[in-house]
Amino acid sequence: MSTQHQIPSYLTPHETGPWAVYLEQIDRVTPYLGHLSRWVETLKRPKRILVVDVPIERDDGSIAHFEGYRVQHNTSRGPGKGGVRFHQDVTLSEVMALSAWMTIKNSAVNVPYGGAKGGIRVDPKTLSHGELMRMTRRYTSEIGIIIGPDKDIPAPDVNTNEQTMAWMMDTYSMNEGRTATGVVTGKPISLGGSLGRREATGRGVFVVGCEAASKRGLDIAGAKIAVQGFGNVGGIAARLFAEAGAKIVAVQDHGGTIFHSNGLNVHKLLEHVAAHGSVAGFEGAEAVLPDQEFFAVHCDILIPAALEQQITAANADQIKAKIILEGANGPTTPEADDILRDKGVLVVPDVIANAGGVTVSYFEWVQDFSSYFWSEDEINQRLTRIMKEAFHAVWQVTEDKSVSLRTAAFIIGCSRVLQAREVRGLYP
Ligand code: GLU
Repeated sequence: MSTQHQIPSYLTPHETGPWAVYLEQIDRVTPYLGHLSRWVETLKRPKRILVVDVPIERDDGSIAHFEGYRVQHNTSRGPGKGGVRFHQDVTLSEVMALSAWMTIKNSAVNVPYGGAKGGIRVDPKTLSHGELMRMTRRYTSEIGIIIGPDKDIPAPDVNTNEQTMAWMMDTYSMNEGRTATGVVTGKPISLGGSLGRREATGRGVFVVGCEAASKRGLDIAGAKIAVQGFGNVGGIAARLFAEAGAKIVAVQDHGGTIFHSNGLNVHKLLEHVAAHGSVAGFEGAEAVLPDQEFFAVHCDILIPAALEQQITAANADQIKAKIILEGANGPTTPEADDILRDKGVLVVPDVIANAGGVTVSYFEWVQDFSSYFWSEDEINQRLTRIMKEAFHAVWQVTEDKSVSLRTAAFIIGCSRVLQAREVRGLYP
């Protein structure tokens, strides 16, 4: 019986961006899916794509239009879930890939969600506070036809934060005529946000990193770490590793690359970045490196915590780290994965390493539904337990099937989604 699938017209045939990376990852896992591979095409196309025009009145009275997206990749296991990104390079195919990685991530750590993602193609630094608010509200109104506490639940991502979520929650609630706290996660505590959510992604990176280090016989105390991206993920992960005795020897962000052989003072660096917006100009650095030297820095652990496709065939060979912890979504291309495997570098994939954020988003959503809020200790303990269990389950598959951690995480993630798909069946 031959299966024929028409290629959707919105997929460009010569795609080389994140969506192509994701498709290659699915091709690599397919041989391990057994009878479920019959359903694999379902993972290769998003369930639903919404492209919206987002017009706003600028402070000077002119009208500006932005392009917004919300992609629901899969809802077989539960409502869509995933962040919203504001960035000048956002494209539909990028948001598709990010939504698909949410499907795999939510399934790999077994939170009861499908995968979704949203974004607006905009450099938020070019907008005033009021313009940002109007853009966020109009975007929320436009995607309001497909989101909701039991349909699709947005959250913060690159360049969005608690304030963004407060505006989204308010806009949705005003349009619905009721206060719907559960429509977004990553909210301020005063609006039904969860303790520990802000730090959760970085904390998850730290927890999984400690497990990976112990598998490799690496002591965190004294370990040298390089971090790309010093925002909510990289900054928090760096702080937790430094508090555990590691040395943060290099940090790169959009402002440049700084280095200190004895470890940068992370607390001072966090204060500097909060005040100045980037690591540029930090006085506690021993050296400022050319950006292209970042991946060649001598370190034990490398944490890409910025954007996609940073570790590629062009730089994977220079990497000295023993372990890569993917704080970002999609930072490593499949070609780089192969090079790193041959070099014996352990790559802890995004869908496990950065799943702490969505895990505490799940806790937030549960707390909102029950209107009963947990202590920060309870949140962190539950987060740690889920992250450790997910890591060890993936490690077991790696050993049983002699595959990379990424393929192992995809085996677990894809199998759960496709089992749900199969047992639900096709309707109508
Ligand atoms: N944006 C985060 C991620 O990429 C969190 C998503 C969420 O909490 O829904 O995992």
